[in-house]
Amino acid sequence: MNSTESSFGNMTIDPGALWDDILTTARFGATPKGGVRRLALTEEDRQVRAWFARSCTALGATVWTDTLGNQFARIPGTDASLPPIALGSHLDTQPTGGKFDGIIGVLGGIAVLRALRETKHRTRHPVEIINWTNEEGSRFAPAMLASGVFAGVFTEDYARDRQDRAGVSFGAALEAIGAIGEESCGGHDLAAYLELHIEQGPILEAERCVIGAVTGVQGMRWYDVTVTGRDSHAGTTPMTLRADALQAAALLMTAVREIAHAHAPEAVGTVGSVEVLPNSRNVVPGGVLFTVDFRDPRDETVRAMEHAFRAKATAVAEEHGVTVEIRDIWDSPAVPFDRRLIDAVSESARELGLPAREIVSGAGHDAAYVARIVPTTMIFVPCAGGLSHNEEESATPEDVTAGANVLLRSLLKADALL
Ligand SMILES: [Zn+2]
Repeated sequence: MNSTESSFGNMTIDPGALWDDILTTARFGATPKGGVRRLALTEEDRQVRAWFARSCTALGATVWTDTLGNQFARIPGTDASLPPIALGSHLDTQPTGGKFDGIIGVLGGIAVLRALRETKHRTRHPVEIINWTNEEGSRFAPAMLASGVFAGVFTEDYARDRQDRAGVSFGAALEAIGAIGEESCGGHDLAAYLELHIEQGPILEAERCVIGAVTGVQGMRWYDVTVTGRDSHAGTTPMTLRADALQAAALLMTAVREIAHAHAPEAVGTVGSVEVLPNSRNVVPGGVLFTVDFRDPRDETVRAMEHAFRAKATAVAEEHGVTVEIRDIWDSPAVPFDRRLIDAVSESARELGLPAREIVSGAGHDAAYVARIVPTTMIFVPCAGGLSHNEEESATPEDVTAGANVLLRSLLKADALL
């Protein structure tokens, strides 16, 4: 038994209370198919926020909201000079979302508060639970808006001006549900940030791992590709005299897949949207627009994929008598998480006898922005079939409990470490 083992004793979270919280929050915006529809800053969101504030207050925490609606619930540590270690995620969902995405990160934090209270364990650092506003980006794009402001990626004004499809601004929506607090967004320091989340992918389940110690969020680049040829008659234009934008585009789309395979095992490349002009069965297409999404944990690999794609585009343009324009849409660099915290998660899993592995996050998370300013990592637990952003999203009570226990133990390790 090592020193942390003895000092933590057998402190664990209350699995029944955590599962009850999951079922309770799932009622705010429950869908007939068993999912959750709780878009940011709607009436359902207001209800779950009120529940969050009530629950944390009942556990002795001080609860407040910043100017962008981020909710904080803090209990003091023994050293008042230290900034808090934060545990959090988001309570908003996709229009047809599940009960777990984001939610277990916040409820896992509440479970940790409960365990600390029941055992009367005092940490050195204050402990803070955070519910970030508008993580999903479904009602107000972009995603991770308020954690982005907290981390200095966006300004508060930029956030407030975002509009939903009905033309309602983020600022007006905040006001409508009474979610505007006094502290400016990013107005206090954090010592560390830990986010428990479902994996939203199939790796942990396939490898029968319960815990993923997340090493970072992969780098991602998005492009819009425009291939321009010449519209012409499908019957009268000989094959040799065509400038067929779709045939050229098809080669480039195949290249996206081949380039990702060439950078196996972690690289991925996706063409998710295609538009053909004029999209008529008897016209040789003169124009094609399609999107490309390249991702890999290493920025060098994402750059290499882009170079390979640009080279292919030049070759295809020449060979097929078309022009290919590649426009940069988004460049999101890879975000490495804090090695000390990643190791704390792995060690916690080992001490609890939980099979674990290191894993890269394929999706964006609030943690990706917070990591820019604060030592950060995430804890992944499996979800059935890797399915997420779906009403059938599902995780077992055992796995969620395991994740929350690793969250608790990692917090205690970070408290000793930082
Ligand atoms: Zn999420």
